[in-house]
Amino acid sequence: MIVLGIESTAHTFGVGVTKDKKILVNEKDTFTTKEGGMIPNEVREHHEKVKDKVLRRALRKAKVTIKDVDLISFSHAPGLAPALIVGRDFVETLAKKYNIPIIGVNHIVAHLEIGLATTKAKDPIFLFTSGANTQIIAHEGDYYRVFGEALSIAVGNALDKFGRNIGLGFPAGPKIELLAKEGKYVELPYKVKGMDVDFSGIVTKATQLYEKGVPKEDLCFSFQETCFAMLVEVTERALAHCEKKEVLLIGGVAANKRFSDMLDIMAKARKAKAYTVPFEYAGDQGAMIAYLGDVMYNSKNYKAPGVIDIDPRQRIDDIKTFWR
Ligand code: AMP
Ligand code: MG
Repeated sequence: MIVLGIESTAHTFGVGVTKDKKILVNEKDTFTTKEGGMIPNEVREHHEKVKDKVLRRALRKAKVTIKDVDLISFSHAPGLAPALIVGRDFVETLAKKYNIPIIGVNHIVAHLEIGLATTKAKDPIFLFTSGANTQIIAHEGDYYRVFGEALSIAVGNALDKFGRNIGLGFPAGPKIELLAKEGKYVELPYKVKGMDVDFSGIVTKATQLYEKGVPKEDLCFSFQETCFAMLVEVTERALAHCEKKEVLLIGGVAANKRFSDMLDIMAKARKAKAYTVPFEYAGDQGAMIAYLGDVMYNSKNYKAPGVIDIDPRQRIDDIKTFWR
């Protein structure tokens, strides 16, 4: 079965193609800025502008035509409504024109499942860190359960906000990672509350220190060390509580080598195993959407819903994992 996966929950418009759950191509175009942050309407315009081009490129590279596609999967939740609408309208038009069934999948579940599909992790604690979300998740009794999360802003968003304040543009995470290599430690607020973490204070403090002349490099280094240490701490607690022996780092921030190394150090110390999703599948992309669409659609428990629409605020702990 050939599945087309369309991703448009946030900054990235992605098109993936899978054949019998094997990824053929993973094409994308990401909204970026030189200075400011991500503005929802500008993101919508970006997706409108690139969608046909990205689809054509994906089909060409996969050596298939739209008529070969058996199923269209799209990320219908959660995300920025203006961005989600572009994806929904796009797949509805394609589905009608070529008479192809549609399935809507949850974007976060797609991050989790592509992590399982591309690593050896079987039943891990998921450390999911992206632009909009930061959650510590485990699968228990037919649901993905959230054991801890960021209380105010997600870690990716914290990196992007701080980056914007010091003139790095969007997305800032990769640039902060580079600058951090030249930095030394300065103290920043470390806020862990039980199983939750809070990143709002650290953005304010680091920005103030920058304005007082503390070097960018030192702040980038310390920002990473502090945020990642907080997340590793709560992940360790989740491992102990759930009695699991694996941890899997997923989402856009999983591209950070230092983060993945810190998780590895913690895991080794408690004889657990740390996995990180391959770089290509860390950030938002369409391959994970196509893959999950195939898995769900071909599960014997799948029932087609009457209406398929966007759901900007859907939480993963409300979704029964009938395909597992
Ligand atoms: P996602 O929403 O899953 O696509 O993830 C996007 C987020 O990942 C953005 O906040 C980026 O700044 C962040 N990100 C991407 N690459 C890196 C990196 N190398 N280090 C830290 N954060 C990163
Ligand atoms: Mg994402």
